[in-house]
Amino acid sequence: MKLNELGEFGFIERISPDHIPRPNHVVRGIGDDCAVIRTGDPDLYLITTDLLIEGIHFTRKTTDPRRLGRKSISVNLSDIAAMGGVPRDAFIAIAVPENLDVEFLDALYEGIHERTQEFQVNILGGDTTSSLRDFMISITLTGTCPDSQVLFRNTARPGDHIFLTGPVGDSAAGLDILLNRPEYDLTGRNSLIHAHLDPYPHIEQGRWIAQSGYAHAMIDVSDGVSADLGHICDESSVGCTINSHALPLSDELREYCHALKKDPLDFALSGGEDYVLLCTGDPALLDSAHSSHMELFDIGIIEESRERFIRNSHGMRYPFQSRGWDHFSGSP
Ligand code: ADP
Ligand code: MG
Repeated sequence: MKLNELGEFGFIERISPDHIPRPNHVVRGIGDDCAVIRTGDPDLYLITTDLLIEGIHFTRKTTDPRRLGRKSISVNLSDIAAMGGVPRDAFIAIAVPENLDVEFLDALYEGIHERTQEFQVNILGGDTTSSLRDFMISITLTGTCPDSQVLFRNTARPGDHIFLTGPVGDSAAGLDILLNRPEYDLTGRNSLIHAHLDPYPHIEQGRWIAQSGYAHAMIDVSDGVSADLGHICDESSVGCTINSHALPLSDELREYCHALKKDPLDFALSGGEDYVLLCTGDPALLDSAHSSHMELFDIGIIEESRERFIRNSHGMRYPFQSRGWDHFSGSP
């Protein structure tokens, strides 16, 4: 069988839980934003790893090494944020084509350092190898979170409200501009491109949500709202209704979609790489967030039946399929 028949997530499901010969310290293995490990400390340990490949995740034509460095570590920081954690230590592996300038790597590490300094992350190791053609970077990041506060994907409950910590769809629109409309002249163009090339991890929001005591489940939006909410629904054996008119959309995204006669909901629901957080929990989380001046949007509700619906501004509900990025079934 070819991988494109199985899909990325079909493949991941085949990786059997039998690969855990030492289960005692494993709180969570495959299936969440981070693995979660008990060490005997009051805090649990979180570990996540991500791989970015030139030509798949970025091109050297559309980004610069400093922003690539910031994004490489930010996608890992976002997975720590998605568990409610505080980041700690990083390991950085790179595969470098032999003709690459050292200045590229210097600038890449400057970008990485900006984020590691800001979030007080140590760089403790990694690996450097040559690559035949493309540049690749893989970062592994650890973090910690108090035992009772870690938020998983499989703990959403029927009746929970669904929240987002920021607007969605900008990153996908930014990618659309970079790939398909580089000459496009639009006031909000740069903010959309910025959302794609230089996302900022919601570590502070993740800690706040975990500490609030109101949240039950959390994930970061890397594959797109419909796919990532789909992961929560799959793992928690629940369904959902998204109120489409409640999805936070930036003015820049609306302007772009208006000009191109596109539906901003397509970018918002199946775009991906927004790196905001999606959590479920008690509706009181919203008021609590607003009194703490934290941006939070209530976009829907978790349902007991496993179906997934979108409710439009006229109150009509339509079933939807979780669509988002899958590396082996092609585009969303
Ligand atoms: P995220 O988008 O949050 O980085 P992914 O969708 O990439 O998460 O991965 C989902 C889960 O599958 C995670 O728990 C991840 O560690 C695991 N996973 C992904 N690829 C592999 C692999 N090749 N081997 C083992 N586990 C994997
Ligand atoms: Mg994630």
